Amino acid sequence: MRTEKPQLAIVIPCFNEELCVKSTIERLVEVINDLVLKNKITNNSYIYLVDDGSKDNTWNIIEELHSKNNHVKGVKFIKNFGNQKALMAGLEGVRALGCDCVVTIDADLQQDENAIENFVDAYMEGNEIVLGIRNDRKTDSIFKKMTALMFYRTMNLLGASLPVNHSDYRLVSKKALEIMEMFPEKGFFLRGFFNELGLKTAKVNFNVKPRMAGESKFNFASLMGLALNGITSYSMVPLRVVTVIGLFMALFAFLMGIEIVFEKIFLHNSPAGWATEVILLCAFGGIQLFCLGIIGEYVGQLYREVKNRPRYIKDIELK
Ligand code: UDP
Ligand code: MG
Repeated sequence: MRTEKPQLAIVIPCFNEELCVKSTIERLVEVINDLVLKNKITNNSYIYLVDDGSKDNTWNIIEELHSKNNHVKGVKFIKNFGNQKALMAGLEGVRALGCDCVVTIDADLQQDENAIENFVDAYMEGNEIVLGIRNDRKTDSIFKKMTALMFYRTMNLLGASLPVNHSDYRLVSKKALEIMEMFPEKGFFLRGFFNELGLKTAKVNFNVKPRMAGESKFNFASLMGLALNGITSYSMVPLRVVTVIGLFMALFAFLMGIEIVFEKIFLHNSPAGWATEVILLCAFGGIQLFCLGIIGEYVGQLYREVKNRPRYIKDIELK
């Protein structure tokens, strides 16, 4: 149990969100004021926006609202680094500015902002991490539903279990932020990371709303990228599968070889076998390429970590 009311920060990643960002900020300022009135958070709680290299008016709107309201702070990237990097910058930004706990939420307010109160309650009960779990996927397209299900199934199968139906709507405490600082890796997959820490965690259910305005900023390629990064940063199983497949293939080829020699020497009936040969060739070729691809993904992870480039580059920060 905690007794002292926390300073809350709310982090919002924004990429071309000029249609949403103003009303989202206004709504979240209301949420903060409401929680301050209820004596659940301190008066110096604030919103921290991360403009992930938007090409539209998003940053101008943020600057304007910052000049009117001190509860609105933010940072602008020099270019688009992607949603995970924006979230990370948000967490690191509020850690530097100071806060006791931080909630991350999407700029389109698809996640029910009223759940933030429940997050804070769960934090007061002594939890270090509070995960928002969506009640259903009604607002998602069939394609997104299917790919999400496949992703969670694959992750579980590979031994990197993730909380199902949790995206990046969560509260984390200052303690969790401090631990995050000790991890130098660049390719963070936040869902996996906070799940693996083993800190005291609670779950809060919330309803998903349709996107307020504008379009989803994720496409097939970026979702695929997120999934592959999630898998390769949290599971070594695919590499092992490759080894096992290779082993079985080698065994199979060895037995085939014996059989062929046997037919040739004792039965004298080596068949033309062209079709079989082509089929086997394609099958083996395909499997080999697939396995090489998996290894390539891990080599890519290594490559990125070894280069040790900054995770993101800030342009302007409003404190
Ligand atoms: N986002 C971002 N950088 C990107 C893509 C998305 O910061 O490159 C932000 C976006 O502005 C939003 C959040 O990530 O606040 C979630 O994106 P979106 O709502 O488009 O995803 P969906 O809800 O469709 O999965
Ligand atoms: Mg959304």
